[in-house]
Amino acid sequence: MALYLSSRCTGISPSATLAVDTRAKQLRAQGKHVYGFGVGEPDFPTPEYICEAAREALSLGLTRYTPVAGTPELRSAIANKLEQENNLSYSPKEIIVSNGAKQSLLNAFIAILNPGDEVLLPMPCWVSYPEMIRMAGGVPIAVPTKESEGFLPNVNLLRKLTTPRTKAIVVNSPNNPTGCVYPRELLEEIAAFAVEKEIYVVSDEIYERLVYDGYEHVSIASFGDDIRKNTIVVNGLSKTFAMTGWRIGYAAASAEIVQAMEAYQSHATSGPNSIAQYAAYKALANGQEYIRAMREEYDARRKLMVETIEKMDGVSCIVPHGAFYVMLNCKELIGRGFGGRIIDDAQTLSIMLLDAMNVAVVPGDAFEAPGFCRISYAVSREDIRDGLAAIGRFIAQVD
Ligand code: PMP
Ligand code: GLU
Repeated sequence: MALYLSSRCTGISPSATLAVDTRAKQLRAQGKHVYGFGVGEPDFPTPEYICEAAREALSLGLTRYTPVAGTPELRSAIANKLEQENNLSYSPKEIIVSNGAKQSLLNAFIAILNPGDEVLLPMPCWVSYPEMIRMAGGVPIAVPTKESEGFLPNVNLLRKLTTPRTKAIVVNSPNNPTGCVYPRELLEEIAAFAVEKEIYVVSDEIYERLVYDGYEHVSIASFGDDIRKNTIVVNGLSKTFAMTGWRIGYAAASAEIVQAMEAYQSHATSGPNSIAQYAAYKALANGQEYIRAMREEYDARRKLMVETIEKMDGVSCIVPHGAFYVMLNCKELIGRGFGGRIIDDAQTLSIMLLDAMNVAVVPGDAFEAPGFCRISYAVSREDIRDGLAAIGRFIAQVD
């Protein structure tokens, strides 16, 4: 039999966000200063009390397999957090801890999708959702949104795109890449729609603590028993506690869904790293002051970024109210020339910005948002000033 790879894998595009990060890291290794607006990763170190907890875990000898769904202490701490902060009541049995929210999401799609099942996906969306849905055998159905409407989905359009195969909808608020925060009324409408149509809601709330301008994060599952039954709440510690490398995420859902996710995870990876789980348990017990300070700093950076972009020619943006991303509208630059080459699309623009100006951005094409680049403000204010100035110098040379 000929040697060839599975169509499941050959059809998958590698993560564009991680690809930009890898390229930026290579340039840094060559001694270049790269303005890292690419990957969405907190630039803060993990708070010391969490690092101390990891050292404590080692001293306590917590180096063995944990239960597949996570340690009882961590699952209880998560249940407690959901109750206190999100008005959600889940027992530890209804919670599963995974290797990052990424694995929680993949587990969720694997648990609920049969081949051909459709998942409504408001666009622009984070790069990994469509691929995860496909990996689980499902079919992502793009639900376009408009910049002029704050990138918020329209429920009438959701209804129009619903078919007998519709199995789920992804809700990601605060949103990556647009930074939009779904208002409570919109979430209520989506909840009513999901209950009426009997579809699951995969609610990715990983940026929940990063909301600004008086906006509040509301979990869609908190609206009542009906919608709670349909929803898989996904969250993690990567963003809130600057713990991207520790790989701790979690999902909360009905016991039936959690058991299905657990069965799959038991074969895929087992429980996540025991030391990281202990540190996560300690992280959740504390840290409110740290989170407040981090959020204030992101807010200041967001304002600096938006104010600077508003003064620039050739690019524009709407004000994001959550997460740490700005969608830079670059449509005016597309089709024009730079250094004897045509800027065909945002992908070409992003390569030119990295090569010519050492500025890393993620092309919007990766998020189904052609003509846009996503820029992250999880970088220092100095880099925001200098990196945007470099983009300004680039634009001045566009003919
Ligand atoms: N969801 C969204 C919207 C994200 O931007 C990310 C990227 N970190 C994740 C989930 C996954 O996060 P992690 O696996 O680091 O917990
Ligand atoms: N979620 C972040 C981003 O969108 C981190 C990279 C990734 O996991 O995609 O940039």
